[in-house]
Amino acid sequence: MPDDGYIFSFCPACGRRVRSAKADNPFRCPACGFTIYRNVAAAVCAIVVRKQKLLAAVRKHDPAAGMLDLPGGFVDPGESAEQALARELKEELGLEISDCRYFATCPNEYPCRGLVYRTLDLAFTCTVKGTDNIACADDVVDIRWIDLGRMDPAWFGLESIRYFVTRFAAMMAGK
Ligand SMILES: [Zn+2]
Repeated sequence: MPDDGYIFSFCPACGRRVRSAKADNPFRCPACGFTIYRNVAAAVCAIVVRKQKLLAAVRKHDPAAGMLDLPGGFVDPGESAEQALARELKEELGLEISDCRYFATCPNEYPCRGLVYRTLDLAFTCTVKGTDNIACADDVVDIRWIDLGRMDPAWFGLESIRYFVTRFAAMMAGK
């Protein structure tokens, strides 16, 4: 379903045809009163630096397939952000996180298979072990170590990630 501004064509509870505008939050079915809040989805990403270079993942899938990303993903129900980050780095790169510190957050919109997920992206700086033996899997096809001094944020495919890397590079440069 394209993001045409309507989320539901039918009420998920009673099946009545409805017109649910994107701005309607919560969605409330006029027929049965079923109500659903469109909360944001939480997503996490890792800022990993080794010898002044930033670890970037090459995205396998759209949106922004082939472009750079920070490793990470959606937080599963019941997980903390730190647990989600540890799981995603293990799944995508085979890496173990040994430290995890809050850096910044940024709202984002993430189109996936016809739906647009509104997210709150949470960035953490991390220390990892074994960066010589990174094994790309899942939705990562390759990695790059990016020289922070020569980095162009436009290499990164998602707006929130461009914000994080821009801010982090500025911080590292003492700006
Ligand atoms: Zn209903």
